[in-house]
Amino acid sequence: MTGRLSPRDDLQALEGYHSAQIDVPVRLNTNESPYPPPSEFVESWLRALAAAPLNRYPDRDARELRASLAAQLGHPVERLFCANGSNEVLQTLLLTFGGAGRTAAVFEPTYALHSHIARITGTRVVVGERTADFTVDPGAARALLEEHRPALVFLCSPNNPTGTVEPSATVETIVDVTDGLVVVDEAYGEFADRSAMDLVGDDAPLVVVRTYSKVWSMAALRLGFCVAPPWVVEELEKVVLPYHLAVPTQLAGVLALRYGAEMDERVGVLVEERERLRAQLDAVDGVTALPSGANFVLLRVHDDGHALWERLVERGVLVRDFSRWPRLQDCLRVTVGTPEENDAFLAALRAALQEVPAA
Ligand code: PMP
Repeated sequence: MTGRLSPRDDLQALEGYHSAQIDVPVRLNTNESPYPPPSEFVESWLRALAAAPLNRYPDRDARELRASLAAQLGHPVERLFCANGSNEVLQTLLLTFGGAGRTAAVFEPTYALHSHIARITGTRVVVGERTADFTVDPGAARALLEEHRPALVFLCSPNNPTGTVEPSATVETIVDVTDGLVVVDEAYGEFADRSAMDLVGDDAPLVVVRTYSKVWSMAALRLGFCVAPPWVVEELEKVVLPYHLAVPTQLAGVLALRYGAEMDERVGVLVEERERLRAQLDAVDGVTALPSGANFVLLRVHDDGHALWERLVERGVLVRDFSRWPRLQDCLRVTVGTPEENDAFLAALRAALQEVPAA
């Protein structure tokens, strides 16, 4: 036998996920929490893990985790679906409601994994454009949805990578217009002053996706969830692999919720730091920083963005390079870190900008 099996024809043009994992002192490129989880949480988790029957499969319905989340969010447990990171939630939604012959709508520029996973599942992607301030125009959205009748509409709010928070009226218009499911990705929802969480009910075709990777400082553990009408949750449970959510993950998800007050405090600190960072960025010549409702800020530099990104790496600061993305020319995204990390970034940026020759 010779030759190698090619991937499916429709996957051949796909590129994998690109976000540099470089070992530098200041890593502000993947929107994680700069703080580890509280040590009491880690201790209680390890104790629970030591007592867990590891020879047994985990609870397939993740009942305790879903009930804990339901109580915390004020939704019935039947509306909760949990998975390995919100990416697995998105993938399960697409496996269940997307696929061959179906369409998903996204509004660019936005989180690349929405269209990436859609394509992997054979779902056709239609693209709506955001306005100059990166919000979604409800009229344009209506026209797009009426033309293509997508099964799934992805709305990321706060939007990654722009930080834009959608007005509730836009979410409501889109829910009214679509005959499919509207998926509001709120991976950064806790950092914003608006959420679609209260709009989720038993009848509206609305799903809100959240994660433990950001506020809850648990990116390493891979836990995400969605709040959705019970009929949606039932369908997702049929599609996702049995026992997909490991015992350590389920236990961590339950125990972390005991530290809600501490996490709220952290959100407050990060939001304050975000505003400080943005104000300082705006004061730098040749930089425009966008308003953000998330734990990151998008900045546009009036120079070669990629060259600047490289100079930041040379100075030990890693941010996310969007400079070559369509619609985001010369944009970089910086995660809000500790005050020390943010200061290190600002100092590196000022120094690096002086080095970049004017365009
Ligand atoms: N949605 C958005 C908008 C994100 O930015 C991310 C993380 N980069 C995710 C979902 C996935 O997060 P996780 O799988 O860690 O929950």
